[in-house]
Amino acid sequence: MDIIHLLPDSVANQIAAGEVIQRPASCLKELVENSLDAGATKIDVLVRDAGRTLIQVIDNGKGMSDTDARMAFERHATSKIREAADLFQLRTMGFRGEALPSICAVAQVEVTTRRNEDEIGTRLEIDGTQVVSQEPCSCPVGTNFKVKNLFYNVPVRRKFLKTDQTELRNLLTEFYRIVLVYPQVQFTFVSNDEILMELPAGTDKQRIEQVFGKGQRQSYTSHLVDIASQTELVTIRGFVGKPEMATKNAQQFFFVNGRFMRHPYFHKAVLNAYSGMLQGEETPSYYIYLEVNPENIDVNIHPTKTEIKFQDEQAIFQILMATVREALGKFNIAPSLDFDRSGYVEIPTDGKAPCSLPITHSTVPYNPFQQSRERANSLNWQSMYSTPIAEREPLQEQQQMLFEQTWSVNQVYQYSGRYLMLPTEGGLMMVDQHRAHICVLYNLYLHHISETRMASQQLLFPEVLDVAPDEVVVINDILDDLQKVGFDIAQLSPLSFTISGVPALLEDKDPVVALKNILSAVQVSGSVHEHVQKTIALSLAKETAIPYGKVLQKEEIEDLLRRLLALPNYRYTEDGKVVISIITDDELAKKF
Ligand code: ADP
Ligand code: MG
Repeated sequence: MDIIHLLPDSVANQIAAGEVIQRPASCLKELVENSLDAGATKIDVLVRDAGRTLIQVIDNGKGMSDTDARMAFERHATSKIREAADLFQLRTMGFRGEALPSICAVAQVEVTTRRNEDEIGTRLEIDGTQVVSQEPCSCPVGTNFKVKNLFYNVPVRRKFLKTDQTELRNLLTEFYRIVLVYPQVQFTFVSNDEILMELPAGTDKQRIEQVFGKGQRQSYTSHLVDIASQTELVTIRGFVGKPEMATKNAQQFFFVNGRFMRHPYFHKAVLNAYSGMLQGEETPSYYIYLEVNPENIDVNIHPTKTEIKFQDEQAIFQILMATVREALGKFNIAPSLDFDRSGYVEIPTDGKAPCSLPITHSTVPYNPFQQSRERANSLNWQSMYSTPIAEREPLQEQQQMLFEQTWSVNQVYQYSGRYLMLPTEGGLMMVDQHRAHICVLYNLYLHHISETRMASQQLLFPEVLDVAPDEVVVINDILDDLQKVGFDIAQLSPLSFTISGVPALLEDKDPVVALKNILSAVQVSGSVHEHVQKTIALSLAKETAIPYGKVLQKEEIEDLLRRLLALPNYRYTEDGKVVISIITDDELAKKF
């Protein structure tokens, strides 16, 4: 039985038209989604020259009849919906019937396909919407799509493509977004005959491990906590990272009804659930799968957009935050601050397990309120999300004036290994030592990137940096800038680099970790050149800034504050974090 039919124009018009195929990654997405919709349990992706010359997707799905195979390339030809109402009950990835005709319009396509019930398959060649040939062929059950010479007839589009490295990274990003929702399906990804990914069928968690656990000694997923909740509005499941594993460039994925989505508002809900548990700029990794009634989300979105509109966004926000908070509380991950051991305080260090460090002054101000609040958090997490977390207010003008007043280093007190507290006229000034140093270093690095090369410290024993395929792309893009700030790096093999020199300020820090952090920061921030330089400067500043818990000498404090105050903008870090806060005498008096 043939199953493809044409959508009526009225329906077609309800579906947002748009440019479906913008780059190799969008073509890959459409092909793989079709394979999934066809019920495939094994999908092989092969690309050549980052998809420019070839994107091939081979599946073991249900295949097509010879008529369907021809029909599939007609505009609005689909087997997935029949009428407008179906749009609101969507359970398949595709539905527009736009992908194949769009691909054919900009590439040379070859497809072989066979259904289980047919003895012989069919092979088609299409060139710019014209079927050039169709003939019977013997082939396995399933479909094999070859898209060759993408944009061969659209020079503008070809020019618009980035370097092979960037396009390969885009292909992999698209691939991750799909494979993470289909762990039961086996995938491979081959680029220029090299196998980059081999993912056997498994559970969600195993899939996450296969994709992101590579090259790590400890099991990656052992740092994740399960989350689950079910309400009428939404079913939530997935995994969130333990707070101590938060990094500056965490992997963060939302999926709704089996589809990747971006959702800044829900992202905030997750972060709120961690409030009080994260240090500085770090954010947790998360893999969150939402299921909602398809009627309650807007499917009529542009095919290349990943934003999805929900009907009950605010309610889902609350549920999501509570779910994450509860999971963190259940696994007893809420931080336990120990104020009883005098002279020592728990200071979680960047991304590692908390460690005890001596603090500057032997008498730690004991804060009963803080302690009882921390305790309350882990017992009664509901109380945490009912009140919104107040945003920190920027300095008021009046406070600003106070701050300009002179200060004396003799009066500076380093509190809790974190804050420099000093009286100014009419108030108490608090400076975040780590962020203050980030500001200072950021300006220094940026200066060197744009003007002169910075001094590099040669390593006695060069280190080897192993990178993922998508990181190779980035590192090559930013090699020049890295050299300017003092890294001495050369490619060793397709997936590794030697580091023979590092910025002097990196001191004894692990250069591999520093570079990995820079790479992911750049991946997140995008590739506009000026932007990249800022990202590198900021990432390296965060890496090399004095940590929390470091005891500072008077001279160091003075030097830090003087350098900070000499900057044009010393109140915020480049990424908008507050560096200085002041409690005025009036505010202080109100507390008593
Ligand atoms: P849509 O996915 O929106 O229906 P497409 O243009 O992507 O539109 O595909 C058109 C039709 O071709 C699909 O509805 C499906 O019936 C058929 N098809 C495409 N790819 C495959 C495949 N890999 N296996 C089986 N059928 C396919
Ligand atoms: Mg499709």
